[in-house]
Amino acid sequence: MAFEMLKTEREKNMLSFNGYIFVKEKESDVKSIWKCNQYFKNKCRGRVHLSDGKILKSTDHNHVPNSTDTNVKKTLNLLKEIATNNVDASSHSVVATALSQIPTECAAELPNINRLKRTIQRLLATAYT
Ligand SMILES: [Zn+2]
Repeated sequence: MAFEMLKTEREKNMLSFNGYIFVKEKESDVKSIWKCNQYFKNKCRGRVHLSDGKILKSTDHNHVPNSTDTNVKKTLNLLKEIATNNVDASSHSVVATALSQIPTECAAELPNINRLKRTIQRLLATAYT
């Protein structure tokens, strides 16, 4: 059961698993519990229990996975990584680099380029002020 850790724009951890996105709900010494990010919007009760880098348990969702949402979040993470590793690069070239690294079907689901550029400018502004 593979999962992936992502960051929100506010640098909080998100967990991506099976096309769903989770945010941390609580954490103990032995495990952490993550709730679906559709918790408020869809009143989804989906949770995953994570321990020692492994998913111990995942509960059902009341909605289908949102691969668009997952792909957009992954790409935003990639954009941020490229932008922070290439501080001299223009937002245009950051977007171009990121788009060259993701599958075309993901690119088609992304917000438009100008919105991505604004996102990068905002990310960089908060990272370096
Ligand atoms: Zn859910």
